[in-house]
This record gives sequence, C-alpha cells and structure tokens, in this order.
Amino acid sequence: MKKITISFFFIIISCSKSDKFNQEVDYIDDSISNQNWNDFIEYRQGNIPLIIISVHGGKLVPDWIKTRVCQDATVVTDLYTKEIALEIESNLKSMGYSPYIVLNRLHRKKLDLNRTLKKSNCGDMKTEAYWNLFHNQVDNFRNEIHNKFGTGLVIDIHGHSHKEQRIELGYLLSSSELRMDILKINSSNLKNESSVRNLLDNNLDNLKLSDLLSGEFSMGNLLTLKEHASVPSKDCIAPKEGELYFSGGYNTEVYGSKDNGSVDAVQVELNMNGIRDTEENRSVFSKNFADIIILFLRTYYVGDI
Ligand SMILES: [Zn+2]
Repeated sequence: MKKITISFFFIIISCSKSDKFNQEVDYIDDSISNQNWNDFIEYRQGNIPLIIISVHGGKLVPDWIKTRVCQDATVVTDLYTKEIALEIESNLKSMGYSPYIVLNRLHRKKLDLNRTLKKSNCGDMKTEAYWNLFHNQVDNFRNEIHNKFGTGLVIDIHGHSHKEQRIELGYLLSSSELRMDILKINSSNLKNESSVRNLLDNNLDNLKLSDLLSGEFSMGNLLTLKEHASVPSKDCIAPKEGELYFSGGYNTEVYGSKDNGSVDAVQVELNMNGIRDTEENRSVFSKNFADIIILFLRTYYVGDI
C-alpha cells in the first residue's frame, strides 16, 4: 500500500512538472506563431536621458522566418546580453532611475538589427515590418530624450568572442585611429567621425576626444577601476596591431551624434570571462555598470540627476 501511494504521488508530481513545461513551450510557440511583431520587442519609457539597446541576445526562432544563410551573415547570439541589459535596468531602478529600454527577442539567425535593413535579412523581406518597428521605437525614444533633456546617451550592449578578455567600447573610431598620437586624436576631423561628436561640441569644460576615450573620467577608465578591463581606457589606450576590436556598428552610427542630433552613443562589447560567464559575474558587472552609467551621465550630461 505504501509503495502504491508513493508511486501515485510521483505520477502527480511528474504530470504537474510536464504540464508546466508544456505551458511554457506553448506560450513561446503561441507568441511566435501569431506573427505579431510586438511579441518580439520589449520596450519601456525612462526618466533619465539614457537608452539601453540589446539586439543580439534574442532566442526566438520562428520557422516562418527564413534562417539567414547568405554570405557574411553573422548568426551567433551574444550570450546573456539581454539578461545583462535587464539587470542593469533593474539596478538603475533600485536607485530611482528608469532608463529607456529597447530589447529584441528574435534570434540573430532570423534578423540582425545592428545592420541596415538591406543587410539585416539576407533578402527575406518578411522581417521588414519588425526592423522598422524596432528602429522606430529607438528613434522615438531618442527624439523624446532630445526634447525632454536636450542631450543624452545610447548604450548598445553586445558580447564579443575575441581572444583578449576585455570590454571593447566603440565610438566609431578604428584601432589605428585610437593608436594615433594625442594631438591627432584631438584634431577636429576625428571628433566629427565619432559617435560622441555632440558632447565634444557642446560642453563647458573644453573636453577633448582623448579625455572621453581614455581620460580619468572616460567610460573605459571607470570600468577598469572596477576591475572590468576595457579598451580604450587609461590603461589600454588602443588595441595593438593584429588584435581584434569592434569599433561600433549600425546602431552606434545612427543613434549616436556622428551625423546628427544631440544624443551620443557607445557600443559596449562585453567579453565572456569574468563578465558574462556566471550568474554572479553578470550580477557584479551589471551593478558596477549601473553605478558607472549614473556617474558618467552626471559628469557629462545632466548634473542634477
Ligand atoms: Zn552583437
């Protein structure tokens, strides 16, 4: 009798587990079979002049969107970057700050949202409406920040798999440009090529490009001081010749101030070891980066937040 009771309970537990699992799967299946693009985007309005974007951390792979197989299509996921974006948001919220958030849930196999429309989809125009939805949302938030705060910052979060385990901060300047001597770096031409042109054109402190890239209060130095090695930074002004480095993609180019507007952008490419690899490391980094973001915004954008 005892044995029978135990088996009976075991069956109940197994069934409830299996139901829960099925429900989760069904939910995902539903959301991706509806063909409702709103299921793929997560966005929230903020109360500080900061937009956090994550485009390569999505996991949904609906079969009604063709998998991208064309030449040069990168399809790898930037592991844990969506989770880190959410954890940064949650840390900021615990300090009373809500960043503007635009996150993508669709896998990069299906669409690359850090590319122009033409390069995003390997010719499958089915995703055009979603590409527009996502980018219009970022654009609307960027305009709202301009109108409300006058200036602001976009942080586009990615993950790289380069050998050097350090964060790569992209301001649209190449490794060889970062390696130039300080006088050349601070020449007006290079500043105008960067994603932080607006801040350099409009500040009361005679801020130079080199200050922003690798000075005391550069994002790279603030990260390095929290033991998250970064390039460019005071300790590592530029990648050495032959070392791989991401200088910023479509989002940094379009949502930064290189060509227009008062909102700047930085592409933040996170390494794996010590940052994305464990739950504890992701948590420590997200907390530190939230603190750095607020310090950075106070120093350069809005002194009174
Ligand atoms: Zn990426």
